[in-house]
Amino acid sequence: MPTALRRRLLLQSAAFTVAGVCLPTAWAAGKIKPGERAALIVVDVQNCFVPGGTLPVAQGDEVVPVINRIATAFENVVVTQDWHTQGHASFASSHAGKKPFETAKLSYGPQVLWPDHCVQGTDDAALHKDLKVPQAQVILRKGFHQHVDSYSAFEEADRKTSTGLAGYLKQRGIRAVFVTGLATDFCVAWTALDARRLGFETYVVEDACRAIDLNGSLAAAWKNMAAKGVKRIQSSDIEVA
Ligand SMILES: [Zn+2]
Repeated sequence: MPTALRRRLLLQSAAFTVAGVCLPTAWAAGKIKPGERAALIVVDVQNCFVPGGTLPVAQGDEVVPVINRIATAFENVVVTQDWHTQGHASFASSHAGKKPFETAKLSYGPQVLWPDHCVQGTDDAALHKDLKVPQAQVILRKGFHQHVDSYSAFEEADRKTSTGLAGYLKQRGIRAVFVTGLATDFCVAWTALDARRLGFETYVVEDACRAIDLNGSLAAAWKNMAAKGVKRIQSSDIEVA
């Protein structure tokens, strides 16, 4: 084969690889088009975390229509649920003399204490009734170990116990994750930081999240995520058909 022709074929092959096969996301007209190697992660959009729930995030219910809209752009969707035992270690009521939003020292380090929330099998722990992600392939429950919390969808708060999500996503060939849900500065941020650390291209869709913002936790979370290479985008950055 003539050298010029061989070079042209090689270049065509490389272009095809970049455009169609290897990249988890493509950019079209300035928008991100999630491909088959991208997954949407919907974090803890549960009754407990919206107004009327046991640990309400201000305007937490406003993420639902945003998530429903962008979810149509994703083939792969993972939904998480905070899923605690009665008397869970993250509940202030489990620690004598402690009040919600104070901190306690647990075996794995400091833990913010919360009101009792998202107890397994209760309506409070159910997914928000208006969340529409029928294509979701995994509902991952976390925080079910009595003595360990789990903000992250990937790793429990002891920073040792894996939830198995990274293995699932990697075995499915997923390379990019788009994190949405509640709350920006806790479960969303921890999930995004772990995703990045575990090698995923990671986006947080800011307007598809709402925050608790406890003692400056929101600003700290964004700063930390930016430093680790998590990309902060808006839902309008995603191409939705
Ligand atoms: Zn919790």
